[in-house]
Amino acid sequence: MLGAIDIGGTKTGIGIVDAEGKILSYHQRTTDTSELSTWLRICTEQLEDCAREINCRMEDLEGVGINLPGMVDTNRGLLLACSYPGWTQKPVVRIMKELTGIEKIYVENDVNSCAIGEMYFGLQEKYKDFLWMTVSTGIGGAMVSNRQLIRGAWGCAGEIGHVKVEYNDPKLCACGGKGCLEAHASGTAITNEVLLRAKLDSEFNALFEGIHEPINAKSCAMLAREGNQTANEIYQRAAVYLGRGIGYGISLFNPQAVIIGGGVGMSLDLMTEEIEAVLANTVNKSLLPVDIVPTKMGYMGALLGAAALVLYNQK
Ligand SMILES: [Zn+2]
Repeated sequence: MLGAIDIGGTKTGIGIVDAEGKILSYHQRTTDTSELSTWLRICTEQLEDCAREINCRMEDLEGVGINLPGMVDTNRGLLLACSYPGWTQKPVVRIMKELTGIEKIYVENDVNSCAIGEMYFGLQEKYKDFLWMTVSTGIGGAMVSNRQLIRGAWGCAGEIGHVKVEYNDPKLCACGGKGCLEAHASGTAITNEVLLRAKLDSEFNALFEGIHEPINAKSCAMLAREGNQTANEIYQRAAVYLGRGIGYGISLFNPQAVIIGGGVGMSLDLMTEEIEAVLANTVNKSLLPVDIVPTKMGYMGALLGAAALVLYNQK
């Protein structure tokens, strides 16, 4: 049995997963970002509760994998950089060893973790070389080559969210750069575009009231599925940008597949055709075809990824 803790900026998932990727118990809490050590202690208590619920002891856990929201030094077990004051430069692995009494504690950033999860609890039978992408509030990426995560010189390999995809009318990105993939095709970017279109087009605006949904990327996908042209245009535009960004990834490391998770990933079917059309125009033919597919892990990908850290780090 594997312990898994997925600490996100808003929510934290805590669970116990078996070796086949079945979630045996699970708790979810709103992340308290005031003090990391306090939060780790609460996570440990939750993990103990999860264990109790399935009549197992903490000692029965093979190890615990932890996803952290920021830049992670996996070798030294540190959270290096994070947007919450008091969370940076913290020796998470050491703290958790003391709290849990468990020796095998592993940390990773959440996107790397999802890619590792896919190698154990997802499409591992089909692909050993792939680019994993989270398309959600932001866009993150991780590269797996011959079943090995590529980390890069200081752990930042695969940062596909910040490749430039628009030079003529570049939007400002959260990273401070302009024209980044994240600024043009993330859930946030799509929602911004939907809000803008709704403001300019009262008929389009009224459709959201009609389906009793707030105006955002998710409800826009619902309208696109119903055949609304404006909603579809918004997704096709995002697909063009995704195609450009993915194209760089394919050209650089020749994956078999691009596996996509995150909220916008759930609307991948609306965009696959356009993404493939862009790839056909921008990527050398010898690198194609590449499968563009949603993750097999679904909504629990990050938690499964955290559990998979225990397996990956022992192989
Ligand atoms: Zn950026």
